Amino acid sequence: MLSIAAAGNLIALLTELVLFFDRGSPEGQIDVARHGVPGKGFIPPSLQYSTTPFGRRFKAVRLAPDQEPINMWCENLPLMNRTMPAVVNYAPEPHSVELREVPVPEIGDDDVLLAVQAVGVCGTDIHVAYGQHRGKINYPVILGHEFGGVIVKTGKNVHGFKEGDRVVSETAAVIDETSPFVHRGLYNLDPGRRGYGFGVDGAMTHYTKVPQRILHHIPDTLSFEVAALTEPCCVAYNATCGNVRIFPGDAVAVIGPGPIGLLCAAMAKLAGAGDLVVIGTPADARRLQIAGQIGASATLGAQGEDIVAWTRSLRDGYGFDVVIDAAGVSPTLKVALDIVRPAGQISKVGWGQQPFNFSLDPLVHKAVTLQGSFSHNWPIWERVIFLLASGQLDFGKEFSHIFQLAEWHEAFAAMHSAEIVKAVLLPWVKENAGNAVSADSADNTVNAERQTPNAERRTGN
Ligand SMILES: [Zn+2]
Repeated sequence: MLSIAAAGNLIALLTELVLFFDRGSPEGQIDVARHGVPGKGFIPPSLQYSTTPFGRRFKAVRLAPDQEPINMWCENLPLMNRTMPAVVNYAPEPHSVELREVPVPEIGDDDVLLAVQAVGVCGTDIHVAYGQHRGKINYPVILGHEFGGVIVKTGKNVHGFKEGDRVVSETAAVIDETSPFVHRGLYNLDPGRRGYGFGVDGAMTHYTKVPQRILHHIPDTLSFEVAALTEPCCVAYNATCGNVRIFPGDAVAVIGPGPIGLLCAAMAKLAGAGDLVVIGTPADARRLQIAGQIGASATLGAQGEDIVAWTRSLRDGYGFDVVIDAAGVSPTLKVALDIVRPAGQISKVGWGQQPFNFSLDPLVHKAVTLQGSFSHNWPIWERVIFLLASGQLDFGKEFSHIFQLAEWHEAFAAMHSAEIVKAVLLPWVKENAGNAVSADSADNTVNAERQTPNAERRTGN
């Protein structure tokens, strides 16, 4: 009789054999649908693949000879009794985050199991790693709520999604279906909502379970490194295009050039902002530079400029039609009130625990609309996926940087120090690292650490 370990070894051996024979596949057009990716694909000559600890394997596939590889996929093999590495937040104290081995999750009837292909690091992940977090957290919890992946298993009630599908997931992992806000489609505002990385285990790991309710297909032309940014783009969409109204030609200011602020600037540009001014501090010099690349017509604060005086020199001197407050501190609301024009709008998407120590009289006197913005819902996701896939939403090459899962600490630190804007972790790259490093052949087609249009690998330390 075969023990579980022996059975596991046999599966691994069989996988190796399949891989061995696969090595003889002729290059050129193949029907990649048999591997779970629909459509025709092109297998590059220097195809690389590897066996993961779970006996799975990954390939890079490109849809045309001149295209970058756009996909990693995996074969479905039993996952029972397996563990996986995960970035776990285990206590409320600062620095209570570490890489742990955890079990692969079991899925329910309405869930799919995703092999996570890319997961973004959010400002709130940095918060929980380096400081106290204000929200309710279910310790220990796997971090990561900005992610996309390949479906490797489906529950029996799942329709419209199948193994091999490339998807991204929203963040509302658990909601109260009876909530009046859910009935209105505003499940982002359901007080019972529990999100990935806080209420339930997130995606900074190999596998995560997701209810079908919050899945979205992504086109094959959208890389996972970019698709992982769908979530913060949706936050920015809601703050910029949902909760306030920008008219073409409006003067728009974004306060706080963090990831969300910069994406708000990109959204404001798409919405037709005329003057688009991004405001930061001298510590934000690098990020303000990126704001320029995203389309800001001016950036302020790197030299400690007087923001209010500068605003008086803009157009008629009465200030901005719309101010997006995306800074994570309370005092910026005062700046927003100072620079918004009468009858203008302020969208507040940045959090701030500190109490305000100023009068809100200017809000009354100027008849300003102050609007909060939190999270996102289904229609926003569909629009943002379209904008990313079509290339209309493009935040340039320097916005995000790629790291392996084991490099999570380095990634968090680089974001925390504002050295980079956004880090994206590729959970499977470690297993492929040997191949990736050796893939510097003539066409370098399947280097898992390759550069992608919207993301580049960070070099050095
Ligand atoms: Zn986030």
